[in-house]
Amino acid sequence: MDCFILHGGPSAVGSVSPCSSPFIFSPLQATSEPDADRRGYAVWVSEIMLQQTQVATVIDYYTRWMQKWPTLQALAQASLEEVNELWAGLGYYSRGKRLQEAARKVVSELAGRMPRTAEELQKLLPGVGRYTAGAIASISYGQATGVVDGNVIRVLCRLRCIGADSSSPAVIDRLWDMANVLVDRSRPGDFNQALMELGATVCVPKSPLCGECPVKQHCQAWRRVEKELAFASQKLFGKAPPVPDVEDCGVGDCPLCPPATEPWDSSLGVTNFPRKAAKRPPRAMRTATCVLERRGCHGAPEYLIVQRPSSGLLAGLWEFPSVPLAQDLQEEKEREELADHLQAWMGQPMAAKGLQFIGEVIHIFSHIHQTYVVYSLHLDGDVILDPALSPSRWVTEHEFHASAVSTAMKKVLKAHEKQRRKESSPAKGSKRKRGAKAPGAGSPCPGTQLSLRAFLRAPTAP
Ligand code: SF4
Repeated sequence: MDCFILHGGPSAVGSVSPCSSPFIFSPLQATSEPDADRRGYAVWVSEIMLQQTQVATVIDYYTRWMQKWPTLQALAQASLEEVNELWAGLGYYSRGKRLQEAARKVVSELAGRMPRTAEELQKLLPGVGRYTAGAIASISYGQATGVVDGNVIRVLCRLRCIGADSSSPAVIDRLWDMANVLVDRSRPGDFNQALMELGATVCVPKSPLCGECPVKQHCQAWRRVEKELAFASQKLFGKAPPVPDVEDCGVGDCPLCPPATEPWDSSLGVTNFPRKAAKRPPRAMRTATCVLERRGCHGAPEYLIVQRPSSGLLAGLWEFPSVPLAQDLQEEKEREELADHLQAWMGQPMAAKGLQFIGEVIHIFSHIHQTYVVYSLHLDGDVILDPALSPSRWVTEHEFHASAVSTAMKKVLKAHEKQRRKESSPAKGSKRKRGAKAPGAGSPCPGTQLSLRAFLRAPTAP
């Protein structure tokens, strides 16, 4: 076979990688690609993109990425800004950054040659973990090494009735041992992908298709269900069958068995496995953000965006001027914090009351429940921004969407545009046209948008 498929990434124990609509690489990019470094690079990019992201989402990103940077050398020459722009919307932005850093390392320190084994890949390339290393090495270089992703965890836990927390070190180590033993020595890449595909299409989290499963005869979870069914049916006819065993395990302090407090639940069948410890709820954060708008030279609106620091959450991405808020602040205080932040940008006194409240936008990052408290401010003159602060620029709507901005910021702009449409629609009750001067400049009232000049004139205290 001259092609391979994009399969799910290393996570998603409880989700399915939608392999039923696989993206087929061209043979030149896949296993028949004679250039081993290009082959490894293609698999590497797809694996990094697929971490925490569904195949359907990745296909377009992958295609554009490979068109723009078809080789490691091309990627090594790209700027972080270009990488962030192409990655925008894919989430987990540090992945793109580290991919590019690693490409630079391969070019500058390894003479452009990809490491050929899972051990070297993991050791030498930033951002390449055990799963990604195993996938690249087995698919691209034929190394007989296993992989363990969310789909494989599910299949193996069911095959061997492993009911302890599937994220515990004892279970993870055991699953890797099993994957490395099971992997087909002659076709490791195909075997690994087949195992992941089995988890994605047959041994799915809910309602697995055990009747169609090609490995059901080897599956302890399935056998247990079958025994229970036989037991129930014999009981119905008054026979006294032996109590079903629990296969080879389930006693003592086995680190792989279900804890005594969570025994096998017959109503769940094979979906007793795998089990995960309860997730910690995401941390709640509030951020005030301001859509600063002005009329561009052709009358179309332009927005001010600023660049985030080069490290930390959403590193290097662009956003509307924003400031983190403490929890439980009064609405008035939140406005003041944002006004103070903008004042630092513009070097002039700002009146918090001049900011128009747009609404709240929720965005869930992997570990953060972020609430953006969105305000807007229309500027009718130019502003001098302090060049010592973060880089900033004015962009049209089109440029905004083409920039390295997060999905969260796109939601913020959408909320702002929705509010503008509402205001400009007579049917919705607001008579004020977009861009019209706010009434009562000099005596601003909450919720009314002011021009910058009026905003700067507005009193800072009620
Ligand atoms: Fe999964 Fe059922 Fe197959 Fe076992 S028999 S591996 S539980 S689909």
